[in-house]
Amino acid sequence: MQLTWLWRGLRTGVLTTRYPRRPERMPDGWRGTAVLQRDQCVVEGAPPSCVTVCLPRALSVEETGGDRRLRLDHAACIACGLCVAACPRGALSISNEFELAASSRARLISEHRPKGDRAA
Ligand code: SF4
Repeated sequence: MQLTWLWRGLRTGVLTTRYPRRPERMPDGWRGTAVLQRDQCVVEGAPPSCVTVCLPRALSVEETGGDRRLRLDHAACIACGLCVAACPRGALSISNEFELAASSRARLISEHRPKGDRAA
């Protein structure tokens, strides 16, 4: 019995990949996490349309003392792409990035404060 298993295993060959030593190439149409083009985002609207359509609330607006920032939580993003269609400035896109391992929760959050939007 064990020799049969060994024989089958030898005939099958190697099925695993060399990931992560050799990065995987994702297929066309693969949807990774959302990416914010900071130079195009102005965080307009209350709330901005991207925040409204984001069902898992990965996008949010943080307001402290007149300072307004868009917050993107990559741990919550499900790569649905709704924010891409909702943004009138094309500031959001879906990347093919899927490697989201981080040493802390805070590293999975990116914040953007538009230029000129500073606390008085
Ligand atoms: S891709 Fe979907 S889940 Fe991710 S930030 Fe955009 S709307 Fe939210």
